[in-house]
Amino acid sequence: MDYTASADLFKQAKEYIPGGVNSPVRACRSVGCDPVFITKATGATLTDADGNEYVDFVCSWGPMIVGHAHPHIVDAVQQAAASGTSFGAPTPTEIDLARMVVEAVPSVEKVRFVNSGTEATMSAVRLARGYTGKKVVVKFDGCYHGHADSFLVKAGSGLITLGIPGSPGVPEEIVKNTLSIPYNDVDTLERTLRDEDLQIACVIVEPVAGNMGCVPPKPGFLEKLRELTREMGIVLIFDEVITGFRLSYGGAQQYYNILPDLTCLGKIIGGGLPVGAYGGKAEIMNCVAPDGPVYQAGTLSGNPLAMTAGIATLKLLQQPRFYKQLEEKAADYADALKRIASATGIAVQLNRVGSMMTGFFTEKPVTDFDSAMQADAARYGQHYRQMLGRGIYLAPSQFEVAFISAAQSEKDLEKTLKMTEWSFKKLLEK
Ligand SMILES: *Cc1c(COP(=O)(O)O)cnc(C)c1O
Repeated sequence: MDYTASADLFKQAKEYIPGGVNSPVRACRSVGCDPVFITKATGATLTDADGNEYVDFVCSWGPMIVGHAHPHIVDAVQQAAASGTSFGAPTPTEIDLARMVVEAVPSVEKVRFVNSGTEATMSAVRLARGYTGKKVVVKFDGCYHGHADSFLVKAGSGLITLGIPGSPGVPEEIVKNTLSIPYNDVDTLERTLRDEDLQIACVIVEPVAGNMGCVPPKPGFLEKLRELTREMGIVLIFDEVITGFRLSYGGAQQYYNILPDLTCLGKIIGGGLPVGAYGGKAEIMNCVAPDGPVYQAGTLSGNPLAMTAGIATLKLLQQPRFYKQLEEKAADYADALKRIASATGIAVQLNRVGSMMTGFFTEKPVTDFDSAMQADAARYGQHYRQMLGRGIYLAPSQFEVAFISAAQSEKDLEKTLKMTEWSFKKLLEK
C-alpha cells in the first residue's frame, strides 16, 4: 500500500500538534508505524488520504456501533445544523435524549449531559464526594476513566501503551486520594472497602474492562462489589462509557443485572459527536447545581447537534433483535478467530463480552492488569502492521478492544479472518 499522503500529513501535523495527534494512542507508537490519516468513512469502511480502504474494527473507539455516516444519523444532524448549532439555552432535544437514557438504563433516574467521557467520570466523582462528604476514590488497576487527575493512577489505555506511570503534572495531594486495586480480586476488594479509616466516597469500575484490552468481570466480582458498597455506604459508579448501549440497550448493568448508584456514559450516546453523560438515583443527582451545591457546568453541554446524533443512534439500536444479531455475529467471528489461532499454533487468549473483544498474544488467561501485561505487545505490533497493509484497521495497541458493529458485513469479516490466518502464519516465520 502507498502511504505517501498520510506520511506527508503526519509531517505537517507534527509541526503544529504535539506528536501530530490530539489523543496519544492515535500516534501508533506501540505498534511501530506511523498513523494513516482518515479522510472518509461509510459503514464499516475507512478511506485514508492515499485512497486506501480498510475494514474498521476501531469504530472511533466504540461510538460507531451502527457504522460510519449512517444515512439516518447524517440526515438528522444536517437538519439540526440548519436550525443552529448551539444556543447555550435549554432545548427540546435534551429532554428527548434524557428521557431515552432514563428509559434505557435501569439505574438512571436523572441524567446530566456533558461533552466527553472524561467530563462524565470527573463530574460523577465530584458528585459522589459531595454527596458522601468523603474524599477517597477506589478504582481498579488497568481501568481507564478518562484523563482527569484523580484517575491517572495505574490507568489503562494510552498510559499502558506509552508506558507512562500516571503522569507528571498530577499532584501527589490529589492522587493520594485515589486507591487503585487489582481488578477481579474479591479479597483485596473486601479488605479495602471494609476499612472505615480510608473514608471511601466511591468505587468506580468498568463493569467490563475495555482499556487494558477486554477483561470480563469474573462471576461474583460485580455482585460482591455491589453488596459491599451498599453495606458500607459507598457510592458505586459504573463507568459505562464503552459498555453503555453496547452490551445491551441498558448497558452492562442490564446485561449483568447489577444496579450501580451512578452511571457514566459516553461514546455511543453521542453517535460520533462529542457527548458524555452521568446519571443515577434522583436522590444523588439532585445534589448537582442548580438543585444542589455540587457545581458542574458546560457551555456546549446538551448541544443540539450532539443530542440529535445521539437520539438518531439510539433509535437505530431499538430495532428488535439488534443486540441479539450483534452477539451472534461477534460470537461466530470470535469462534472463527480461535479456530485460526489453534490451527496456526499461535497462542492467543480471546476475551470477549458481546461485541467487544481482544485477542491477547499470551498463553495464560487474562483476568486483570498484571496478566494483560504478559501479552506480547511486539508481536501485536507486527500483526497490526501486517493487517493494516492488507486493509484491516485494528486498534493500534495490544491493550485495546476490537469492536464488532452492525455495519461489518459477512464479506468484511471473512476477509478479516483470511488475513488473520495469513498474518498469524507470518508471525511464526523467521
Ligand atoms: C473512552 C473512555 C473514557 C473517556 O472518554 P473520553 O470521551 O475519551 O473523554 C472514560 N471511561 C472509559 C471506560 C472509556 O473507555
